[in-house]
Amino acid sequence: MKIKANKINAEYSFYGIPVSPGIAIGKAFVLEGVHVKISRKNIQQDEVEAEIEKFHDAIATVKKQLATDLVSTKRRIGKSNAQIFETHQLILDDPMLLEDTVRSIRLDLRSAAFAFYSILERYQSQLALTDQEYFRERAVDLRDIRRRVVRCIQGDKTDFLRSLKGSAIIVAHDLAPSDTIALDRHKISGFATDVGGRTSHSAILARSFRVPACSGLRYLTKYIKSDDRIILDGNDGTVLINPDNATLEFYHKKREQLDKINLELTKIKNLPARTLDGKDIELAANIEFTDEAENVMAYGGRGIGLFRSDYLYIARNDLPSEEEQFIEYKKVVEKLNPHPVIIRTLDVGGDKDPQNIHIESESNPFLGYRAIRISLQEPEIFLPQLKAILRASAFGHVKLLFPMISSMSELFDTKKLLEQAKDELREEKKAFNSKIDIGAMIEVPAAALITDKISEEVDFISIGTNDLVQYMLAVDRGNERVAYLYNDLHPAVLRMIKNIISAAHQKGTWVGMCGEMAGNPLATLILIGLSIDELSVSPMLLPEIKKIIRATDFKEAAKIAEKALTFSTVAEVEKFIQRYMQRKFKDLIF
Ligand code: PEP
Ligand code: MG
Repeated sequence: MKIKANKINAEYSFYGIPVSPGIAIGKAFVLEGVHVKISRKNIQQDEVEAEIEKFHDAIATVKKQLATDLVSTKRRIGKSNAQIFETHQLILDDPMLLEDTVRSIRLDLRSAAFAFYSILERYQSQLALTDQEYFRERAVDLRDIRRRVVRCIQGDKTDFLRSLKGSAIIVAHDLAPSDTIALDRHKISGFATDVGGRTSHSAILARSFRVPACSGLRYLTKYIKSDDRIILDGNDGTVLINPDNATLEFYHKKREQLDKINLELTKIKNLPARTLDGKDIELAANIEFTDEAENVMAYGGRGIGLFRSDYLYIARNDLPSEEEQFIEYKKVVEKLNPHPVIIRTLDVGGDKDPQNIHIESESNPFLGYRAIRISLQEPEIFLPQLKAILRASAFGHVKLLFPMISSMSELFDTKKLLEQAKDELREEKKAFNSKIDIGAMIEVPAAALITDKISEEVDFISIGTNDLVQYMLAVDRGNERVAYLYNDLHPAVLRMIKNIISAAHQKGTWVGMCGEMAGNPLATLILIGLSIDELSVSPMLLPEIKKIIRATDFKEAAKIAEKALTFSTVAEVEKFIQRYMQRKFKDLIF
């Protein structure tokens, strides 16, 4: 069903990239950039006492915030993720730090912000110079706490979120995955960012928070203020600032209609994802957090096609232990049992910058030290993870997935470490499934071209289109300037996917897809037609994809895929599929 827009009237209208469906209507909260600006001008003698008071007030406020964060983070994502706040509290209790700052305000006539900033900078550079990992990690803590206290002294409203009673639409220039997971998802009704694309990890997190989101809005933060009324349409990428009443009314109605469609869609949640002519497609979900496992069945998924274990590592200063990881994986596996759970080993680097793993600054992080490359070079990080996943395999149906494989030798090295992890568990007499299925993500073009060889070494293949598309088309997945070039319906991408599936099937290897293309309704028919075995999508997209599968005839889908592969441009592919879908699925929106 097409919902036609009336005349849209708003103070400002922005059109960006729709990254998470749904409509949010509410007040904006603009998150300031992460970099603080500090005036280095000296203060006057008669301002000294006021500055000292400001400093003490800021320390007291930040301590209170840390205590709240500690409790709420423990509740939301577990004790281990909350440790960072305990460390920050300890830093603020250091009497020397407090005395040095007060002395600098008094004697050097520095503002509270400048004094605190410079002293922490000094401590931080001393720590960063040591070769001991522990102290280098503390340097990162100092940077975080410095930013927080300085923001508080300057009256930055970032901490508004803590006192927020209702929910807000978060507007930011950029949101790193670590910034995003620090937000309380219950207080957020939408995200809008100047930068970013559909498959950047913050966009993926918005979908896992199940809130509407738009990215790539370019200059939005220049025009919007906190408390502006805003409409965010995550279906088409529109953001309207201070709309008139008629526009508001239109969007309220549109939201009601979408709610009805979604309610209707969830009615099929318990029906199989089977085509009209009886072909079963495994329909699974991608999750980022343990507690999302609940949503998978509720939205009609039968298994987890991608558990991004990365978020167990992000936003904390130490590494999660084997035991901690085991507990988290086991929770998910038991919840889903007997359905399969594909746990992907650590995939950080790229746009996911962990504080606890040292990654030197790189000019091309997506081409650099990330994913399996880190795991292979740092077995002390990889082995505990492998052991934790293996142990979870004793409690249900677990499969192990390796990200960013780009050559056979990487795969062989990975398998060697897996054998070592198994041997260690045998020695420790810990139970695990020794026949656990292992899979390789195909997300690097080089790997795609040797899928036949890879398939001989693994039990399954999972196509990661988010990276595959960025590497094939040479388009940074998070860069809105070139987002118009990022399209999973590009004829080259379609050909590559066809080749991957047939190369794997020729070796009798199962092929799933966990990249965002699996949740693109315009791609569903083509993927079914190319004989994909599994589609793994964000839980909120499960009903729509299931509906398409159930209304599709496999033989017809095969013909559609064949035809789609004859086109030479994205526009032709899109036009062809759109026309077909609009005729066939009148009650869905494309
Ligand atoms: C992918 O690249 O398609 C994928 C699923 O992995 P991620 O988005 O975490 O890089
Ligand atoms: Mg990837």
